[in-house]
Amino acid sequence: MNILYVGIDDTDSPKGMCTTYITFVIINKLKSFGFNIMGYPKLIRLNPFARFKTRGNGAVSFKIPYDNNNDLYKIKKIIIDTVSSDSMMSYENTNPGVVFYEITNNKKMDLRLKKFTYKAIYEILTIKEAKKLAQDVGCEFHQFKNGRGIIGSLAAIGSELEDKTYELLVYRVPKNYGTSRKVSYDSVVKMNKITYPYTFDNLDENYIAITPHTPCPVLYGIRGETPEIVEMAHKLVEFHEDIEGFCIYETNQHTDMHIQKINQIKDMVKDACYKIKGTVDETPRNIEGGHYFFNLKDNSGIIECAAYEPTKNFRETIKLLRKGDIVTIYGGIGAHNTLNIEKIQVCSLAEDYVLNNPICGCGHRMKSAGKNKGFKCPSCGLKLRNNSKIKIPIERRLKTGFYEVPPSARRHLSKQIIRMRNNNVGD
Ligand SMILES: [Zn+2]
Repeated sequence: MNILYVGIDDTDSPKGMCTTYITFVIINKLKSFGFNIMGYPKLIRLNPFARFKTRGNGAVSFKIPYDNNNDLYKIKKIIIDTVSSDSMMSYENTNPGVVFYEITNNKKMDLRLKKFTYKAIYEILTIKEAKKLAQDVGCEFHQFKNGRGIIGSLAAIGSELEDKTYELLVYRVPKNYGTSRKVSYDSVVKMNKITYPYTFDNLDENYIAITPHTPCPVLYGIRGETPEIVEMAHKLVEFHEDIEGFCIYETNQHTDMHIQKINQIKDMVKDACYKIKGTVDETPRNIEGGHYFFNLKDNSGIIECAAYEPTKNFRETIKLLRKGDIVTIYGGIGAHNTLNIEKIQVCSLAEDYVLNNPICGCGHRMKSAGKNKGFKCPSCGLKLRNNSKIKIPIERRLKTGFYEVPPSARRHLSKQIIRMRNNNVGD
């Protein structure tokens, strides 16, 4: 059997479009010509720190079987024509790429492609590197403008998912793009009640989390463990506008595929995401804007960790950390070499206390008698030569365990605690 792997990336802009929608249009066109894709298309999220990403840095790939070169030509033409007509070409940072990789006679995929996927998730790659790999492994690539999308297209083709989730995306009719989405809140609450935790991130506090806030073609997206559960959940959601249809994607969202295990702080680099264990070195401090920071240390070094304002209630947990607490942090190193926390495992709690002046035998709290002069009772005048204050333990309000940012602040790639429990992973 011959299979054509197709990768598509960077067709959208913050002002509209969505690479998954272009894929949906392409898949429907292919179907109308009698070509059916194999399995589900893949939506692959890449390095969250890529500079020119549109929302979420996601690329798409799918597989399509073909018999002969005539079919192959037709399939490729449909894809190229659609990407060139439907992409947001006028937007400066939209640089679409399409990659074709033909596997004939059941041959295996080149291992360099699989490695490239991890590189594109762990590091920031250049267009030059991507083109070189495409040439080395025999991929045909089509670049529009500077062709940055070739990077994601190759990575999406090479992706092999051990852990995976599914997302069902519902597409609006074009005349409604940019208007408010008419999705019933009550129906989402009901859907969540029936399908959670096999679907997730449906609600955030008291609002719907499945609808995007951009003028893109997506009405809503439901994320879950299986294609069946996201489809069932979709049937439970009520909405009051016309839709074009929906498409289910297999994805690396919520798998922590971006998290690299690392043993020491000094080995961490910018624009990469890690799981790192260390000791909290200070009581977290907050700065204007409601951001919280603290230093984490191990034997190799120190790194500043941050819970920014958009992480909302998660900051209430961070606030409760104290010097000496041992924690494992999952997060990425962004601007200013600060580790942005996605989730935290509080492994053990240090003792917390306040330092007070001693109480005199007469029942009054003593006062300092001056620097290094001990204490003096303001009531009976008793003097103490000893300078040491009394440690009064404070009960810790924090408990050991996992804590995570809310859905609104969650990275697409971050694995939710509920998924860690479901899959019985995480240590
Ligand atoms: Zn006294």
